[in-house]
Amino acid sequence: MPLIPMAPPIGILGGTFDPIHYGHLRAALEVLDHLQLAQIRFIPSRHPPHRDTPSASPGQRLLLLQQALAEQSGFVVDDRELRREGASYMADTLTSLRAELGNVPLCLLLGMDAFNDLHRWHRWREIPELAHLVVLYRPGYDLTHSEALADLVTHRRIRHPRRLGEHPAGSILFQPITQLAISATRIRELLAQGHSPRYLLPDSVLHAIQTQGLYREPR
Ligand code: ATP
Repeated sequence: MPLIPMAPPIGILGGTFDPIHYGHLRAALEVLDHLQLAQIRFIPSRHPPHRDTPSASPGQRLLLLQQALAEQSGFVVDDRELRREGASYMADTLTSLRAELGNVPLCLLLGMDAFNDLHRWHRWREIPELAHLVVLYRPGYDLTHSEALADLVTHRRIRHPRRLGEHPAGSILFQPITQLAISATRIRELLAQGHSPRYLLPDSVLHAIQTQGLYREPR
């Protein structure tokens, strides 16, 4: 029976974005293009459950994101986690997106470091039921998944992006991207040491960081 075509998939990139940088932006652009997504929603986390409180406030991180995404069509800021009280669980975020967007395919983009940690996330087993997982290779991180994640990969891995459009959720795709060894941690360190992080992130974002006096102190 022919499959009824669904709307093009929507990408979701969650993170602390403390600050957003070219590692996020280049990866997102390549995925938007290669997977033919309708858009990518960048969703900043208010209270990331598995890590220290971000250096910049939610409002400051949102402002940096808005600066970075302003000029790229298909990139959208989604501030739903900032508007929600309590820990920012991705399972809750995907549930709210699914309720809003119906059965459109959702693709959760995860760097390899984030994917390796997935089995520690709150209600993590619900996540592949709510979205496809698109895992992005990242310098310095190999696939080291736990037994639970290995099982997930065995049963759900697909090799071709076209298959993402066939169902609303449930598959895992490992997506090669240009490897950029850029991290927000390194950018914060450079700024705290008085060095320039220029060319690791957009000039507009660096300008906003300087105007607001962010990341001057080591943590
Ligand atoms: P930090 O250094 O503070 O941990 P980060 O640079 O990892 O921050 P996050 O906002 O935590 O940035 O990342 C959001 C998502 O983007 C995660 O899934 C992460 O794996 C992915 N990501 C971040 N930087 C890169 C990169 N250079 N290449 C591929 N994926 C990346």
